Amino acid sequence: MMLALESDADLQPFNSMAISERAERLVRVESDAQLREALALADAHGWPVTLLGGGSNVVLAGPVPGLVLVMCSRGRRVLKRDGDAVLVEAEAGENWHRLVGWSLDLGLSGLENLALIPGTVGAAPVQNIGAYGVEVRDLFDSLDALDRETGEIRGFSLEECEFAYRDSVFKREVGRYVILRVRLRLHTHAQLRVDYAPLAAAWAATGLARPDARVVAQLVMSIRRSKLPDPSVMPNAGSFFKNPLVSASVASALAAQFPSMPQFLQTDGQVKLAAGWLIDQAGWKGFRDGPVGVHSEQALVLVNPGGGTGAQVLGLAEKIRQDVLQRYGVLLEQEPPVVGG
Ligand SMILES: Cc1cc2nc3c(=O)[nH]c(=O)nc-3n(C[C@H](O)[C@H](O)[C@H](O)COP(=O)(O)OP(=O)(O)OC[C@H]3O[C@@H](n4cnc5c(N)ncnc54)[C@H](O)[C@@H]3O)c2cc1C
Repeated sequence: MMLALESDADLQPFNSMAISERAERLVRVESDAQLREALALADAHGWPVTLLGGGSNVVLAGPVPGLVLVMCSRGRRVLKRDGDAVLVEAEAGENWHRLVGWSLDLGLSGLENLALIPGTVGAAPVQNIGAYGVEVRDLFDSLDALDRETGEIRGFSLEECEFAYRDSVFKREVGRYVILRVRLRLHTHAQLRVDYAPLAAAWAATGLARPDARVVAQLVMSIRRSKLPDPSVMPNAGSFFKNPLVSASVASALAAQFPSMPQFLQTDGQVKLAAGWLIDQAGWKGFRDGPVGVHSEQALVLVNPGGGTGAQVLGLAEKIRQDVLQRYGVLLEQEPPVVGG
């Protein structure tokens, strides 16, 4: 199929913060062949390329020059069954939450804790999405990506993705790889993870003895709906900052000064702090800065109810970062990448 290139496209419908910026050109790609065609066109004209999935983890900071590629490839399938283990594959443009629902409908478990995370399958490995004690790397088998440096499609194993907390080789080497499809290892016998505090409490309250992945997904969805703003009602990009990791000595000094500060010891000896708690304690929850602000229920989420610009969002983020740094000596790292400008 021919590529349908749109000029001077409004990006507002393409980002969950509803920031209104223009793309010099925009094209939806539905197949590997269309992707190659679009990249060849961009190379021939010297256009910079920006990749978007669902736009739920980006901040648009200005007009986007060159070509915006929106990943719209579809398809998901069971590749292999081996006893209890089931290998599934989905194309990059598939909606992540719909993949979760599809796998649950097939009686498979593994993705239930990751229900209702916005965005596409192709973006899930980019920041190793995670929620309620599970990250995509826990289910990951492999993926195919187009390497823009070599023009080749290559497979990536778990190790090659270099997954870390909200991080991977794809997030670090921005623009080099286009993820085409992702393979995940799921199970027919539920191996549920309900140890994460809010989920554990909700699970206990059901009184159910038998593990059931669908019930866990329902609980996750209702906890998320009660805590996180729906971007279609209150534009946002989810958690705006990563939870900071500090050394054990920094953590114990902070605990001595702030005894109620939540701290989570990691397997590598580092300690994870709750960015939302730091921002909340610093008094930012519900703060409004013109058209943008901090969500009134969840301090980790910056919102854009008034149609603000990316610069206004980033300006507020910087004020919060400086304040938290001054109070706690902890530097917050922004989670969503900045695009355009
Ligand atoms: C309300 C809300 C709640 C959220 N909750 C969570 C949560 O619980 N846990 C969590 O981890 N995240 C969460 N997020 C963040 C977001 O949902 C995830 O990061 C998601 O994976 C982004 O997918 P996307 O398709 O929208 O990516 P986009 O925002 O379109 O892109 C994000 C980045 O990935 C790159 N990218 C996109 N597609 C590809 C591809 N095919 N190949 C290579 N690079 C690509 C883009 O270039 C960009 O750099 C939340 C966001 C919102 C708005």
